[in-house]
Amino acid sequence: KMRLRLILGDQLNPLHSWFSRPQDDVVYAMMEVRQETDYVLHHAQKIIAIFAAMRDFARQLRAAGHRVHYLAIDDADNRQTVPGNLDYLPAHHGATEFAWQAPDEWRLDQQLSAYAAALPIPSAMEDTEHFYTNRDDAAQIFAGREHWLMEQFYRRMRTRHRVLMSDTGKPAGGQWNFDHDNREAWNGIPWEPADLRGRHDHSALWQTIQASGANSFGEPDAAQFAWPLNQQEALQQLERFVEHALPHFGRFQDAMSVKAWRLFHSLLSFAMNVKMLSPRTVVERVEAAYRDGAVPLASAEGYIRQILGWREYVRGVYWHRMPGYDRLNAFDHHAPLPSWFWDGQTRMRCVAAAIGQSLQHAHSHHINRLMVIGNFALLAGLSPHELHQWYLGIYIDAFEWVELPNTLGMSQFADGGLLATKPYVSSAAYIDRMSDYCKGCHYDKKARTGERACPYNALYWDFFDRNRDQLAGNQRLGMVYQQLRRMDEGALAALRERAADLRGRLAEL
Ligand code: FAD
Repeated sequence: KMRLRLILGDQLNPLHSWFSRPQDDVVYAMMEVRQETDYVLHHAQKIIAIFAAMRDFARQLRAAGHRVHYLAIDDADNRQTVPGNLDYLPAHHGATEFAWQAPDEWRLDQQLSAYAAALPIPSAMEDTEHFYTNRDDAAQIFAGREHWLMEQFYRRMRTRHRVLMSDTGKPAGGQWNFDHDNREAWNGIPWEPADLRGRHDHSALWQTIQASGANSFGEPDAAQFAWPLNQQEALQQLERFVEHALPHFGRFQDAMSVKAWRLFHSLLSFAMNVKMLSPRTVVERVEAAYRDGAVPLASAEGYIRQILGWREYVRGVYWHRMPGYDRLNAFDHHAPLPSWFWDGQTRMRCVAAAIGQSLQHAHSHHINRLMVIGNFALLAGLSPHELHQWYLGIYIDAFEWVELPNTLGMSQFADGGLLATKPYVSSAAYIDRMSDYCKGCHYDKKARTGERACPYNALYWDFFDRNRDQLAGNQRLGMVYQQLRRMDEGALAALRERAADLRGRLAEL
């Protein structure tokens, strides 16, 4: 008997039962392949981070006595696709059984099921032992519902997993949600915690990746690489987050600043999404910090909601709606992405900051992704599919199961409102309230028309005007449409004209 087990690049879960003890009759296959570097254009740091973490994982497995067949990107016998390599690996090792862990992406799920179905030896797909929920748990909870309210899902999760619950089955503090405490802008006090992440020199790996011919964009930062390599480093990062940032996470969750790109966020999404860090470990640690009195409940709850709620929920949306979800386009938007998506060179200071951070760090926090970049894309009518590919490429934490529902559903409303009860759009006023972006911007945040008027303003009114048929009946948009109805014809015509002009020359903004 000889078993071949595949480990994908986002399945680096050291706590998996596969690894509880080394076995002579098991070989683990890991592979760096062009198939995975090239399915969209990726940020350099994303490729480096995944390969470096994979190499470290293989090293740790070997050190623990496991057998690993590792194909590096420049190995001569690397056929550069997953099935291509799997065509010879079983015979090479005399495998009598094949097993793989459930992929989180539909693309790989299809590819591996097709591969296994054609295999002459027995094969089995096993659980990744990472998530709280199964692929179809959310679909069961929301069976028959047109709208999937995250809040409902989240309360179920809190109850089912007994997280932040009292002994009597009530939510800690008597409340499920502290969002109203979590909407403060940030004025620099307290300053964001120092970036104490360990650094690694991945220059040699970066050279190998470039020599392989894989294309990329963004700053590689290879000599001073800051993303965690393994569970141990991710746990250190978690500890620092809990101590220094979590106490302020809630209050400043939605704040944005040119002066601070991390603010009080954890930067743990990469570690969790490649599974080197378990979401349970994170949730339990944060709950313990609250129970110890070290952090306010609003911060602990706000943070846990993101992981136990949003993260599991969007995964359920993904599996329920794939295939085909990536092609939805409820507003029929087709404008290509302006060139500044790739270099950050725009006079809109908020967009330049959010995209600039993304190019530099392969990361930007949620509100920048949603209310600056995504907001602009929706108002301007950019193609949701192109936008989805951009988000999937640029962020270090971007894997389709989590990126797609966030981009297409939450941010672009391209599914017509499964996740979001109304489109997440705003004029300059919201961005100004939550950030320091508008001060010193080329554009005037107050003006709606005229050459220097902030583009968000005219585009905002024009968006609701253009989409009356789809949106005017939405109760949550009653105020917006009331304002539109009260607007005089001349003012509305001027807004339409300004918006059409802007949409005709997006690249110049
Ligand atoms: P924190 O603010 O510290 O939050 C803690 C954790 O909560 C995150 O690490 C993440 O695991 C989870 N989380 C928070 N918000 C969400 C959410 N909306 N959906 C799922 N999990 C969430 N997140 C990804 O992990 N991968 C993506 O590809 C991705 N693409 C996004 C695209 C758009 C358009 C938007 C609006 C959001 C996207 N998000 C994505 C969600 C969120 O922006 C990131 O999870 C977060 O910025 C990661 O940084 P952090 O670890 O510092 O997060």
